[in-house]
Amino acid sequence: MGEGVGSHSGRASGRSWNVEALRSCIESYYPILYLVTFEEEECDNVIRGLAGDRKVIEWNLAVGCVDFDSKRSQTQYLDLPSALSNFLDQDLDNHFIVIRDAHAVLPNNPAAVSRLRALVRRIVHDDGTVATVFLVSSKAYVAPELEPFITVFDQAPPEEPDIKELIEDHARAYGYDIEDEVSYRLRDACRGLSRYEIGRLLNRGYQRDGTIRGDDVDLVLDEKKQIVRKSGMLEMVSAKAEMGDIGGLDGLKEWLAQKAKVMARLPDAKKRGIETPKGMMIVGMPGCGKSLTAKATSALFRLPLLRLDVGALMGRYVGDSEANMRRALHVADTVSPCVLWVDEIEKAFAGIGGGNSGGSEVTSRLFGHFLTWMQEKTKPVFVVATANDISVLPPELLRKGRFDETFYVDFPGERERRAILGVHLRSRKMNDSGIDLARLASETDGFSGADLEGVVKDSLEQAFVDGKPKTEMNDLLNAIDGNRKRAGVMKDSVKGLLTLKEYLVNASSSTALSRR
Ligand code: ATP
Repeated sequence: MGEGVGSHSGRASGRSWNVEALRSCIESYYPILYLVTFEEEECDNVIRGLAGDRKVIEWNLAVGCVDFDSKRSQTQYLDLPSALSNFLDQDLDNHFIVIRDAHAVLPNNPAAVSRLRALVRRIVHDDGTVATVFLVSSKAYVAPELEPFITVFDQAPPEEPDIKELIEDHARAYGYDIEDEVSYRLRDACRGLSRYEIGRLLNRGYQRDGTIRGDDVDLVLDEKKQIVRKSGMLEMVSAKAEMGDIGGLDGLKEWLAQKAKVMARLPDAKKRGIETPKGMMIVGMPGCGKSLTAKATSALFRLPLLRLDVGALMGRYVGDSEANMRRALHVADTVSPCVLWVDEIEKAFAGIGGGNSGGSEVTSRLFGHFLTWMQEKTKPVFVVATANDISVLPPELLRKGRFDETFYVDFPGERERRAILGVHLRSRKMNDSGIDLARLASETDGFSGADLEGVVKDSLEQAFVDGKPKTEMNDLLNAIDGNRKRAGVMKDSVKGLLTLKEYLVNASSSTALSRR
């Protein structure tokens, strides 16, 4: 039969299992179906529903062979190879054979793997043995010898109506009311979590004060943080920044405000045929607010921010980088809705296609995988990709259809410098009438946003050290002089990057290029 390792996920009548695909595999005599799940009870119900008049036999690591329904121990076969020998001695026609904890028991267990192969041979070649093996565990482990015979099924997380039902069932069972607004936010935050995880969170929230309230939504975000932390590929960024902390970049802020309204009411937007926002690319000068924008986007959308360090993705061994990328994007899908910040994207995809450094097979494959994910993603993961040097990036990445928009951030003009200085003075309560913002802005030509922040910080510190009760205009002007040299050096070092504006225009004429 040799169907190879396939993979299915999706929703069906078992709510989170693709029951139709499972049934069709069983009817087509696929020998091994691998069900990846934490929710054994629901999985049992699905197997029971599919079994019809077939007999179900089960082995698990804790007790050995058990009765599938009562889970009572049946035989002494505690080890899997002996249990499989015993099964092989029986008439297995019209049977389901359920083997639990497969990921724990099959690695480094050649006896079990070879007996499973014997079982597969019998199922495939003996017309008198119409049977299906179910491997059930929380993680997929596919032994190379069995790979051609295994089809993997993932349990899809519950969708919006199911989450709503779970929350309402919980409230009914424990006799409390839940406000509509809280229920809506909770449903939104719980997307991507399994039924088990949602149930556990509702229980934790309820234990705190006998009901579910707005602040219990934070528990969900904590749970998502755990998932991200356990993955090791991504970092959950907790640094706070608001749109009001960004000076200038008005076009970008306006564009984001519009997308935020769509993200906040995605189900309604979808009903009207509006596409889920995919994300944005921000290219440009160091210290001009790219990272700040990524952080503020997450606050504006009220969604967690995951940072993907593409440099760290690049593994040492062939296949590592791809596997890392796949895992990272899977985690982002799992914790969606979220903002995925791909920092320094040029590091991962430098030198492919139109780039100037040749490009390797690994980066090409990585790039292909990322593009396909961007193109086909159905989960609400809003990507904010940032890059300093895009001259090495393949033009395909910037074409319309990947990102919704590409923004170029340059050194701030006079009006923007005034706005940026205003932000930093206000945040340190230094915005009194003695400060002439217009003059400060005109004195800081060539300063980046980071330089301007440096000016404000330095003046504050110097005034304090000099024993002054508050920072004055003169302190700021002195700090500007002190920082001018550094700003000049920086501007020189990024001169090469300035030509990127032309690169962008040439390389992606179809990409709408927006500027502050
Ligand atoms: P890099 O490419 O070097 O990572 P970046 O463009 O990501 O730079 P940020 O980290 O966003 O730069 O900016 C550094 C700091 O400079 C910010 O934390 C912020 O305080 C200040 N800053 C930069 N741009 C602005 C801005 N437009 N408004 C307010 N502050 C800004």
